[in-house]
Amino acid sequence: MLDLEQLALGEPRYDMTREEIQAIYDLPITTLVYLAQSVHRRYYAADEIQMSTLLSIKTGGCKENCGYCPQSAHHATNVASHGLLPVADIVSAAKEAKDNGSSRFCMGAAWRNPPKKGPQFDQVLEAVREVRKLGLEVCTTLGMLDEDQAHQLADAGVHAYNHNLDTSPEYYGDIISTRVYQDRLDTLQNVRKAGMTVCCGGIVGMGETKEDRVGLLHQLHHLAPHPESVPVNLLVKVEGTPLADKEEIDIFEMVRTIATACIIMPTSRVRLSAGRTQMSDEAQAMCFMAGASSIFTGDKLLTTPNPGEDRDRALLKRLGLKPVEAGATGHHHAHSASDAGVSSQAVH
Ligand code: SF4
Repeated sequence: MLDLEQLALGEPRYDMTREEIQAIYDLPITTLVYLAQSVHRRYYAADEIQMSTLLSIKTGGCKENCGYCPQSAHHATNVASHGLLPVADIVSAAKEAKDNGSSRFCMGAAWRNPPKKGPQFDQVLEAVREVRKLGLEVCTTLGMLDEDQAHQLADAGVHAYNHNLDTSPEYYGDIISTRVYQDRLDTLQNVRKAGMTVCCGGIVGMGETKEDRVGLLHQLHHLAPHPESVPVNLLVKVEGTPLADKEEIDIFEMVRTIATACIIMPTSRVRLSAGRTQMSDEAQAMCFMAGASSIFTGDKLLTTPNPGEDRDRALLKRLGLKPVEAGATGHHHAHSASDAGVSSQAVH
């Protein structure tokens, strides 16, 4: 039997069983969303949405075979590949992102791991230092890292490193075969050791079962500390990828995944990430009610379509929500129990 009051008001836990998380996931959606929103507003302002921009700084030709990804060299897609962008181009994209209301700038490179020889990694470090000077929170997603690379990124000013677990350990092999789950966990550990915050989530709608979604949530929950940032992506089906013909998932599964993430990782910022162009305004609003408090803005998310600034601004206005200012953390500390609304939740 779930103790809803403990879930709503208790300290973050790291020891939930898969069964407990499944029971939360399966709650009536009214209870689930209410509980998630109650937990969310203990730590975050209820009316704020943090805006991030994700730029692909090196596109396509990746050696990995992630079944969802148009940038894998294993799949024949229409992605226009390009090498590492010059630092000046990255900085000008970051300035534009800031002008459009983003407080976090993420740089993604389609690498299995950043090259250990040659000038490319130094170029990334230089871009990080320059973007940091703009007052933006810097996030990178560059594939697997060794300890030394993680430290160099941290020293250059990377705030967060994104590395997704994607799905449950059981389903992982159906989606990717060029690496194993433990490789991901090892990189996450190197990120932690270097002192960067962790951005780690997954993708919904890849043909996984409900139990797989819970399995992913269970893995994330057992990372201690929880990832500071948990992106929840809806699969964007891209022609030429092995997952292009997967059946549409019921959107309420996305809402449930987000809500459960918020409840079991209360201090984490849960992000409504890829796939928003496939979602109605109402579905997106429901994800916000379920505790998602961040979106990615701009016309593209790495290589896949995204709603664009105007549409997002209009949606937030209609919903009475506002962006978190650049430089602000948007992270609130616990209010009283009654404030909590209770008496007795790209990619690499
Ligand atoms: S998701 Fe990342 S690691 Fe996987 S194929 Fe795409 S770019 Fe490569």
